[in-house]
Parts: sequence; structure tokens; C-alpha cells
Amino acid sequence: MSWLAPGGLAAALAVGAAVAWGFGWHGLVVLFAFFVSGSLLTQIAERRAPRRTARQVIANGGVAAVAALLGAWWVATGALAAAAADTWATELGAFSPFAPRLITTGARVSRGASGGITALGTAGGVVGALVIAALAVLLEPRGMAPASVYPRRTHSLALLTAAGVLGMLADSVLGATLQGKYECPACDARFERGNNVCHEPVRLTRGLRWLDNDGVNLAATLVGATVAALGAGYSP
Ligand SMILES: [Zn+2]
Repeated sequence: MSWLAPGGLAAALAVGAAVAWGFGWHGLVVLFAFFVSGSLLTQIAERRAPRRTARQVIANGGVAAVAALLGAWWVATGALAAAAADTWATELGAFSPFAPRLITTGARVSRGASGGITALGTAGGVVGALVIAALAVLLEPRGMAPASVYPRRTHSLALLTAAGVLGMLADSVLGATLQGKYECPACDARFERGNNVCHEPVRLTRGLRWLDNDGVNLAATLVGATVAALGAGYSP
């Protein structure tokens, strides 16, 4: 599979195994929908994204895998809805005729900059969350959660979509604020990773050194999972 680096493939198989163990084919369908839709959108956007590493796979699927091992269907699918919303927003946002604006201040930022959002990308993210939410509602395994928790399917659909969208927004806010940003001291070129060398090794100018894009993605899936869990009434 050309979408995954070897470590990424191992991580994807581990996530898949956890989801299959927890939810059987129902869970695998939702996981595949997330993974395949994201990869196809990346190809359609003709973004030459590097093959996914184990870190990136865990950042997007790790929370869902843990929730699957706990048998928490709505938590796992809430995490996947957030991951899907973020991926769809990024890829569809690439088609936006307008430059992205920072979610916090509204300042224009360059394409692909963390924390930048577009109307098109945001709408795409909502659709991505809705697709995962719809699959989760349709495929909910019987006996997975108390029937009284999500009494109506429309309620579940709205709540899971909201979980995904809130996760996506958390991703943008963290990307605009706490995520580490780097600059070349010699030419002001900006970078998202601290291991770059431009004219000189890049320097941290904003945010936290240890919080990179993968960390922000992981936090976004945690937000999606938490919102879904609160809505489902799982007690901690
Ligand atoms: Zn430079």
C-alpha cells in the first residue's frame, strides 16, 4: 500500500486489529471509510503527501483503537468522526479560491498553515463528520451501549457529527495557538517542524516545542471522543 510507510502499515494493522476485536466488521467498515476517504481525497487534491508514518496513524486512529478495546462504540466513532472532519477539511480546503484565515484572529495565512481555515474546508469537514456519524448510526453493533443512551437515531447522528466538528475546530485552535512554530533565523521562512534546516537550523518562535501536528491531531480525536462520550452518558 503506497499510502503507508512500513511503520505506518504496522500501526494501521494494530488499529484495525483493535477495532475488529472490539466491534467486528461493523467497526472495520467505519475505520475503512475514514481511511480510504481521506487517502482518496489526498489523491484528488493531488497533494504529494508523504506516506503516513506510525506516529500519524496513531495520532488519527489511536484513540479509536483504545475505545474499541473498551467496547465503547460511540467514543470510538466520535474519535473517527473528528479525524475524518479534520482530514476532509484539509483536503477540500485545498480547492478554496480564498486564502485561509487563522481561526483565532482571522489573519490571512498561507495554504496548509496550521490553524488556518477556509469556508470550503470547514464545510467539507462537516460532511466528513456526517459521513462517519451516519455509518456509526447505521452499523451500531447490537448490545454495544445501553439502548436508552442514544434513544433516537437522529439524536445520535447530530451528536456524533457535532463531536467530529468540535474535534476539527479544536485541531484548528490548537494549531493556531499551542502548536510549535519555527522560523529560519536568517530568512523568516516558516516551518512546522523543529528538525528543519533552512539557511540555519530553524528556531522555535511560538507554541510548545513538544506539540507538533501529530500531537494536535491526537488531541482533536480526544475532543471528538470526549464529546461523544458525554453525549452517550458514559461515566468515567
Ligand atoms: Zn532560511
